[in-house]
Amino acid sequence: MHFYCEKCKKEYPLNALQYECDCGGLFRLYKDSSNEIPHLVSIGEIETPMLETSFESIGRVFLKMEHMQPTGSFKARGAYALINQLKYMGIDKIVEDSSGNAATAIAAYAAAAGIDCDVYIPEEISSNKLHYIKSFGAHIHVKKDRTAAGRAVREAAKNTYYASHIYNPLFFEGIKSLAYEIYKQLGNKIPEYIFVPAGNGTMLLGLYYGFEEIGALPAFIAVQSEKCNPIYAAFKRKKVIQEASIATAINIAEPRRLKEILMCIKRSFGNVLTVSDAEIYEAQMAIGKKGIYVEPTAACSLAGALKFFKKGKPDNYNVILPLTGTGMLS
Ligand SMILES: [Zn+2]
Repeated sequence: MHFYCEKCKKEYPLNALQYECDCGGLFRLYKDSSNEIPHLVSIGEIETPMLETSFESIGRVFLKMEHMQPTGSFKARGAYALINQLKYMGIDKIVEDSSGNAATAIAAYAAAAGIDCDVYIPEEISSNKLHYIKSFGAHIHVKKDRTAAGRAVREAAKNTYYASHIYNPLFFEGIKSLAYEIYKQLGNKIPEYIFVPAGNGTMLLGLYYGFEEIGALPAFIAVQSEKCNPIYAAFKRKKVIQEASIATAINIAEPRRLKEILMCIKRSFGNVLTVSDAEIYEAQMAIGKKGIYVEPTAACSLAGALKFFKKGKPDNYNVILPLTGTGMLS
């Protein structure tokens, strides 16, 4: 396994301090069928249930219950792969920046792996999440906003391994397991649609590469907030809006892998839509009525599906709504 540049194809080892190519291109992962991520560290990650349920206007859907993963979000999948590979390579110190769920997952796996972890986070993080990350013994650096946290972590990454959930392809490698699980739970079928809350595109890219390996793609419908819509704006050639919405995990003004995200949506014959804070809140409450408490970002998948299938949905379509994170920490 090694990294290679998406633009100039230059190769880099997995333990390189560099997190992007000299030419400015982002890394992709080269992995052949004989390569496996080592299994050294576990914090109880699971195959999450896929709950068949229905909502009045759209009928039957499947809720993929990723909020049940350790640390309360699907990011545990990425952190599992990333930290296991780093542990295997003997890396004993990492830096990371995140708004919450990724930092939580990476800090937790790093703690279990005995890897020293510095986390750069924006002030906006909920006090619940902050306490959660602290409990893993991570060194916390609070910065004014995401941009400032990003700048600080890139400075620190000059001499410490950058375990980024955006730059490091090992993280996406872990998310791929979600695609395999959905496929298996549907009885070896590709679903027609997956509605994916999208900010940095972590879940979307992981799902895309997973289904690509399986051999067929569902249509990916990326769901963004009306208040922060860079993927929607690029896809539809509309005006970019960059405000704060209640879907904090996808309040990403400038997704670093935007081109790759657009490519995945186009190749899947998917689409992008936006939802309002009111629609997100209503969806969160509708999921709550099923006895499930998710964060506003996770409710974007249902809010998006309700909007997309306004005139109804064919009964035979398998539609997956990933519940990305728990409401307990938001
Ligand atoms: Zn390059």
